[in-house]
Amino acid sequence: MAQAYDAVVIGAGGGGYPAALRLVRAGRTVLMVDPKGNLGGNCLFEGCVPSKAVREAASLKSTMERADFFGLEAVQSPAAWSRVVAYKDGVQTRRYAQHRQEVEQARGLTLVSGLAGFVDANRVRVQDLLRQEEFTVSGRHIIVATGSEAAHLPIAGFDSAWNHHDFFAWKQTQPTLPEDIVILGGGYIGAETASMLADLGVKVTLLELMPEILSGMDQDLARAVREGLQQRVTVVTGVEVTGIEPDGGHGYVVAGRRTADGTALSYRAQRVMAAAGRVPHVPSDLGLERAGVAYDRRGIAVDAHMRTGVPHILAPGDVNGESMLFHSAVAMSEVAARTILEGPEAGAPWLRDAPATVFTRPEAMTVGLTAEAARRQGLAVWEETRPMGVEAWAQIRGETEGFVKLTVGRATGRIVGMHAVGVDAAALSAAAHMAVRLGLTPGELGSMVFAHPTQFEALDRLARGASSDSAQ
Ligand SMILES: Cc1cc2nc3c(=O)[nH]c(=O)nc-3n(C[C@H](O)[C@H](O)[C@H](O)COP(=O)(O)OP(=O)(O)OC[C@H]3O[C@@H](n4cnc5c(N)ncnc54)[C@H](O)[C@@H]3O)c2cc1C
Repeated sequence: MAQAYDAVVIGAGGGGYPAALRLVRAGRTVLMVDPKGNLGGNCLFEGCVPSKAVREAASLKSTMERADFFGLEAVQSPAAWSRVVAYKDGVQTRRYAQHRQEVEQARGLTLVSGLAGFVDANRVRVQDLLRQEEFTVSGRHIIVATGSEAAHLPIAGFDSAWNHHDFFAWKQTQPTLPEDIVILGGGYIGAETASMLADLGVKVTLLELMPEILSGMDQDLARAVREGLQQRVTVVTGVEVTGIEPDGGHGYVVAGRRTADGTALSYRAQRVMAAAGRVPHVPSDLGLERAGVAYDRRGIAVDAHMRTGVPHILAPGDVNGESMLFHSAVAMSEVAARTILEGPEAGAPWLRDAPATVFTRPEAMTVGLTAEAARRQGLAVWEETRPMGVEAWAQIRGETEGFVKLTVGRATGRIVGMHAVGVDAAALSAAAHMAVRLGLTPGELGSMVFAHPTQFEALDRLARGASSDSAQ
């Protein structure tokens, strides 16, 4: 007979492990399966953590190069990629050790290094990759958190392109950086990678199909990030890539055409990187059909409590396509655990107001609705903007570009969105998220006290200014 667990969790990334840990803390038995044999999923293996480690090294290099600004001797340090990679791998190793301890301390949790797929709606077949054995288990609840994968472009030569794996994968990163690179895709992963590689001395061309990078984000934000990038990166928007070919020498030729008029374009570089977005990861051997779980190319459909059409099967994280970010996956995972423990009526639903950050130089964040999204929802809004560079902190750091913007519902006077570009923008997302989640008015936000000198003063002053002229 199949061994029975209260819950079986497929995938140990941000969508899977927070639910598993919460369930065992509540006394449930949980079997979790992931081929990586540890927690963290792709965020830790080749995503958020390693990319931000490389970005940190790249930013530090650019700060060292402008040491003059701080009255210090400028240091022209060539990028020692192998040492940057060692530092990045070290951060990942440290986090894996920490997660290993968490697993060891989680009584009731069994983690199998392997792959899992449905036998039917209640049973899962596990292939244990370490022990080289297969077995079947049953779960009163089953959580599918298999995440996402890089999108494939249907163009000739696509497989010759590198992707984020080549730059960030734990102990599998490419040993050398190319001299020059063409990056396909101006979403946040393409833009971030372009920014950090340029800071590390690589000559970067970033190609984007749409008229602007960071599609879907606030237009002023996207423009400001692009203008910042364009000081170090060649950014070409409105170009459809049609193929990648070896150039017969040391690199590749990327062929494309201008979307506006069809003009043929070509770009040559030692390497090409694909960053054409991410799609939910639903491998065929996962066997969702056998469990009766519906999905399409946008992912597994879930309700606000993370339940699929089969109510005891839940699907938090990237695999449902709702919001493909680690903190969103964690929040959805917590929702899934509460749905299991408390029932959907008591458990808090997933709300679509998670912040998104862009760790370019300058960095950016966005929370809630843009004016454009509000308009599509038939919601009248007004907006107010304040430059980041007027704050003491931006001036101390010598990073005075960018702005912060409030989007406020006309009828309610409540903040429905906040968007920022500039120094410490990513950190501002926490306060911005609270303001949007709590539905604060600018006056209420402006009545909070923010420490001086920090960039939070930009939010504070914007909110105070906006509350005094909210007659708009
Ligand atoms: C380059 C890059 C940078 C990023 N930067 C950020 C960032 O700065 N901030 C941010 O919030 N997000 C970032 N992300 C996104 C973030 O990595 C994802 O949103 C997050 O990992 C989603 O968690 P998840 O658990 O849903 O999926 P994943 O982390 O993808 O985890 C899914 C897990 O399921 C396992 N799995 C798959 N199939 C099976 C199976 N059949 N059986 C068992 N296990 C299986 C996989 O091995 C994987 O470990 C970045 C992503 C990339 C690629």
